[in-house]
Amino acid sequence: MSEAFDLIVIGAGSGGVRAARVAATYGARVAIIEEYRVGGTCVIRGCVPKKLFVYASRFSDMFEIAGSFGWTVDARFDWPTLVANKDKEIARLEAAYVAALEKRGVGVIRDRAILTGSNSVELVKSGRVLEAKTILLATGGHPYIPDIPGKELGITSNEAFHLEKLPHSILIEGGGYVAVEFATVFAGLGVDTTIVYRGDCVLRGFDADLRQGVSVGLQERGIRLIYETNVRRLRKSGDDIVVSFSDEVDAPFGAVMFATGRNANVSGYGLDVAGVALTPGGHIAVDEYSRTSNPAIYAVGDVTGRSQLTPVAIREGAAFAETAFNNNPVAVDHSMIGTAVFSEPEVASIGLTEAEATTHGDIDVYLTRFRPMINTLSTKSERMMLKLVTLANGGMVLGCHILGPSAAEMIQLVAIPIGMGATKADFDRAMAMHPTAGEELVTFKTPTYRYRGGVKV
Ligand code: FAD
Repeated sequence: MSEAFDLIVIGAGSGGVRAARVAATYGARVAIIEEYRVGGTCVIRGCVPKKLFVYASRFSDMFEIAGSFGWTVDARFDWPTLVANKDKEIARLEAAYVAALEKRGVGVIRDRAILTGSNSVELVKSGRVLEAKTILLATGGHPYIPDIPGKELGITSNEAFHLEKLPHSILIEGGGYVAVEFATVFAGLGVDTTIVYRGDCVLRGFDADLRQGVSVGLQERGIRLIYETNVRRLRKSGDDIVVSFSDEVDAPFGAVMFATGRNANVSGYGLDVAGVALTPGGHIAVDEYSRTSNPAIYAVGDVTGRSQLTPVAIREGAAFAETAFNNNPVAVDHSMIGTAVFSEPEVASIGLTEAEATTHGDIDVYLTRFRPMINTLSTKSERMMLKLVTLANGGMVLGCHILGPSAAEMIQLVAIPIGMGATKADFDRAMAMHPTAGEELVTFKTPTYRYRGGVKV
């Protein structure tokens, strides 16, 4: 006997949970199915535990400069304490997510779901069959592991959250935000850390000055950067893993982590049976209202590959519920999405990079680099950077890029005026708050340089 719902959500991560809750508030009878833990990647093994680890690792930077403020610190770090406290917090959050769903009458089912048709789902463990007029796929993604000999010796971000002990050294393969964030976490906690990346600089897609700045900052923290190189093979040698690189060098590491990207979860749960089409890049193809090629089935979040960020998945989930259960079609605007890398130094950006903006006509670039005030009593020479890219002669602000303390917090707020189409004059109108780093954004006098006819002048 099948059980009937208005909506079945597969995947209780950022997008699925929000969609289920909003649909339920509109009176829909909703079941949400999760095969691992409620909260999904962000809460269980992504943003949240990552940021807690980032906080832990940043104490080392503070201890380094504490002496210049007169402090004597005898600091020792205990990894099991951090992991246990993090696990406690994640369990609390998971319980809160379940409670919030159940409070709205959503049925939370812990099982793996397989689509058996346009409107039906079978549960792997229990064998239950559920039916609904509408199905939402919010199945997220998983780390991609290169197919090389010895790959099983490596870990991904999933396992990094549960290591029994910190390795003496780690090699992280990749150049994206996960690689950079985990490198600064491990280095900050005292692990000898190396990044190997096939490209020529970390954080592809970010503004070139930010990429350069973060590269320097990583090296200042003792992180070794090996560019234009791949990992070819891993083999065990005693307690270590010997890594063979594409430049024929072999070197031992205490651990190896793959941060080589993520693939969408699109296989093994009946997308073909339900006639759900994929994009050439291997994500679920959707229209602006998150509808798949099957009109009864929608998809949101990472599995659609539009933007792999939690707030975007949440927005897409809410927009889906508005569209399908409140007779109010809402399309999410995917332009102007701010993004942060919680590395040390921190990086955050919104809008066009300088290189992208040059293709939009004449532009002005306002750029400043300085030692953050917190470092000025110490010998720490690291500089922070703030950059505004505007249309020429005080025109619209096209992009803002920040490297240094609180970069993400600042970008979160400038996202508001920039999204409203603010001009340089609008920024200038704001009174500076002193002493802050952010005041630089409203006190730029003349452009640091300009592009006229695509040429830097
Ligand atoms: P997910 O949260 O991945 O949820 C999908 C769920 O579906 C999973 O729980 C999975 O178990 C379940 N599932 C899959 N198939 C089935 C099935 N057949 N049956 C039942 N259940 C199924 N984003 C940010 O915005 N900021 C950050 O700082 C940030 N840091 C990150 C750090 C790391 C290490 C990682 C890996 C990601 C990070 N992200 C961050 C990205 C963020 O976690 C994702 O964008 C977000 O979780 C996507 O939500 P989602 O709902 O699409 O999928």
